[in-house]
Amino acid sequence: MEMEKTLLKNIGKPQSHTIDGYIKNGGYRALSEALKSAPDAIIQTVKDSGLRGRGGAGFSTGLKWSFIPKDPTLQKYLCCNADEGEPGTYKDRGIIDNDPHLLLEGMMIACYAIGASVAYIYIRGEFAFGAERLAAAIDEAYARGFLGTNILGSGFSLDLFIHRGFGAYICGEETALLESIEGYRGQPRKKPPFPALSGLYAKPTVINNVETLSCIPAIIEKGPKWFSSIGTPKSPGPKIYCVSGHVKRPGLYELPMGTTIRDLIYDHCGGMLSDREFKAVIPGGVSAPMLTSKDLDTPMDFDSLAAKGTMLGSGAVVVMDESVCMVKTAYIINRFFSHESCGKCTPCREGTPWLTNVLRRIEHGDGRPGDMELLESLCTNVFGRTFCPLGDGAVMALRGAIKNFREEFLYHIENKRCMAG
Ligand code: SF4
Repeated sequence: MEMEKTLLKNIGKPQSHTIDGYIKNGGYRALSEALKSAPDAIIQTVKDSGLRGRGGAGFSTGLKWSFIPKDPTLQKYLCCNADEGEPGTYKDRGIIDNDPHLLLEGMMIACYAIGASVAYIYIRGEFAFGAERLAAAIDEAYARGFLGTNILGSGFSLDLFIHRGFGAYICGEETALLESIEGYRGQPRKKPPFPALSGLYAKPTVINNVETLSCIPAIIEKGPKWFSSIGTPKSPGPKIYCVSGHVKRPGLYELPMGTTIRDLIYDHCGGMLSDREFKAVIPGGVSAPMLTSKDLDTPMDFDSLAAKGTMLGSGAVVVMDESVCMVKTAYIINRFFSHESCGKCTPCREGTPWLTNVLRRIEHGDGRPGDMELLESLCTNVFGRTFCPLGDGAVMALRGAIKNFREEFLYHIENKRCMAG
């Protein structure tokens, strides 16, 4: 049975990006309902729903909100992470471009719950169209009294700003994002203190992903039980999977959390492109170790994928067929991490370019005996020794490729060419 859509429900409807279109489709009802409840009750509802952050970490959203101090004299902030830079991920852009008021409504409810009077949307620099759409939506929301002072006569006031990034992947890391908003170089901060106590401008701050916040209006309107009845007990709710690569119908798919990889590829996406053989899938953005055909029946939720040694991450599903060279794939992925390394810590700053150089020469037919051992030694010296997860992500992706396709690397080194064609 088809699941009723929540996050993508307005996409494709006329004027879905305007406030009139949004209200016509039932928008802003959840906000007026939320404003009649106590903030703590909203937090409890979100906790009860079991919503886990859709940006990659999978942490309980309600619990995160509950960490914010209750002191009403403290300035608090909400920052929406719309820096969507993980290769293969375009779910947040889908919401921002087509249904910006869904995100705004989620943010308004979140701010009311945590007591924040100022919120920022940190949007990836390349999303010029999305930034324009959001700016227009924010103007509309102010004009209709959903933003500003005394929203809908509730006494709650909120100002909301857009902050455009400049295309640095690391600014998707929450503390680098805060640094960037404050006008500093986008590099991660040391934790603790965690942002809930000392975040933006050293004030209590919640940072949530676009998809996470976009789940909130439906949770308020339909209730936490409805939300937790979708998906799996530990990873409830709908999830947007963004599928790219060798499938017949790539795109955004809103499905219950825990849909298997096989169902996603062969049912929803129509199967493999040109009916070629499936070879591998990256299940959650390029830092997620790849899986192979023996894993096709794995449910795509936080815990099932973690049990397979990989992760749901951002929900970016990259499907590869038999024609793909895994050495080249590993090289391209590592080159990305090396380019995006912010340079703050030595193992990542030095290790990721070194890995890229070795992978490049193997891929280009100049591999040397001992290169596999060198790669493994470099991985050991980067993994677990970096300041933020970027370095670990680079290693996890490479280790996944070597674990599943070691013979391709060896063939490249010995024969100076590719076995995949
Ligand atoms: Fe920067 Fe890489 Fe170190 Fe993260 S791991 S702080 S991206 S150098």
